[in-house]
Amino acid sequence: MSHEMARPPGLTGGEVTGRADIVIVGAGVMGCSIAWSLSQRGAGRIVVLERDKIARGSTAAAAGGVRLQFSTATNIELSAYSMDVWENFENLFGVEIGLRQQGYLLLVTDPSHVPVFQENLRLQQSYDVPAQWLTPDEILELNPVVRVDDVIGATFCPRDGWCDPYSATMGFARAARRHGVEIRQDSEVTGIRRVGDRITGVELADEVIEADLVILCTGPHTNQVGATAAVDIPILPYRRMSFTTRPFDDVPSTIPFTVEFARGLYVHPEGPGFLFGMGNPDEPSSLDDTVDEAWMLNTIEALCDRIPAFTTAAVHAGWAGSYEITPDDNPVLGYVGEVEGLIVAAGFSGHGFMQGPAIGQCISELVMDGAARTVDISPFSPGRFKDGRLAQERNVI
Ligand SMILES: Cc1cc2nc3c(=O)[nH]c(=O)nc-3n(C[C@H](O)[C@H](O)[C@H](O)COP(=O)(O)OP(=O)(O)OC[C@H]3O[C@@H](n4cnc5c(N)ncnc54)[C@H](O)[C@@H]3O)c2cc1C
Repeated sequence: MSHEMARPPGLTGGEVTGRADIVIVGAGVMGCSIAWSLSQRGAGRIVVLERDKIARGSTAAAAGGVRLQFSTATNIELSAYSMDVWENFENLFGVEIGLRQQGYLLLVTDPSHVPVFQENLRLQQSYDVPAQWLTPDEILELNPVVRVDDVIGATFCPRDGWCDPYSATMGFARAARRHGVEIRQDSEVTGIRRVGDRITGVELADEVIEADLVILCTGPHTNQVGATAAVDIPILPYRRMSFTTRPFDDVPSTIPFTVEFARGLYVHPEGPGFLFGMGNPDEPSSLDDTVDEAWMLNTIEALCDRIPAFTTAAVHAGWAGSYEITPDDNPVLGYVGEVEGLIVAAGFSGHGFMQGPAIGQCISELVMDGAARTVDISPFSPGRFKDGRLAQERNVI
């Protein structure tokens, strides 16, 4: 069942052309997962507005990593719920997402990081995450080509892995549409309507859709979109890039998602080749989505330094997208305190794709039941920044 809204021709901005119970802005993994979860709960008429196409924002740029290895309990719980969904995605949604659970191997080279990783490990194990500490010899059993002469140890969780963000997001989107959600592409929200302390809907170029609840799933654009309702949401975009190699046999395709934590360098098998990347810590905030070739060369150099076998590999493709970073590297989740009718689910600081399923579930509970029950997301509430209750995540890649 679809709910196409009447859109009279020749309308100018300001005239109300439709009404929804809930408007979701943004059709990345979050918008689509939340739309699906809400549709399951019979939340009424749900319209998702996407200025581009489904899964073309940050979600399209993601390396696909899904992991349980976090330093905050809330993230471990969000990822644990999500991992169950990723593992059963084909049964649930009828879509193959190419999940490969070859583990995340987080290499520790800086002695000051060891106690932090040991503490993270204790927390993870208390949540039944099967992560463990590995010595350099044990690391080589999993990844025989990685250079370990300066590696102190690593944490490894065999349940971690990676899958395809596009297929997964389309899986949510199709399921949501089957349950009556209208997802409109090429539909940019130009403003959020606010009357006093209440949100009343959204504006597009030539129409207005009224709604009592607006959910911002606008990823790296959230600060700009929030500003149209005079709400300050502290999420800044930062360019991040990933690259793939051409088919390459000199590195085993069985290696885990290998991360050199200190440099933020990562690599994992992808199709017949490998996918790799490394964040540039000195790059200022921007929405630039062009590939920085100088940083690409730095990344290749770092990769060949850590895994010398890659010296003979050829780069096949590269792309840039935005991390959506908050002051404590954790998302902004929940009702914005100063206005009625506005929820934010954004700012996942580079680990959002993997948490899509849990965020859908938790936000639908927040809307329908008044609070998230599956995972207590209150530590990530929008108000925490003003209240000085930051929830710093330390396992940021
Ligand atoms: C290079 C790279 C690698 C990454 N690797 C991983 C990884 O391995 N694992 C992981 O979990 N995460 C990873 N991430 C992070 C992950 O991609 C994001 O956290 C996640 O995709 C965020 O999803 P989202 O739905 O919140 O945002 P998005 O996917 O950006 O979706 C937001 C949507 O809102 C739309 N929008 C914005 N403004 C408007 C408007 N005014 N009107 C209408 N629509 C609007 C945008 O067009 C966009 O489609 C990576 C990110 C990058 C850049």
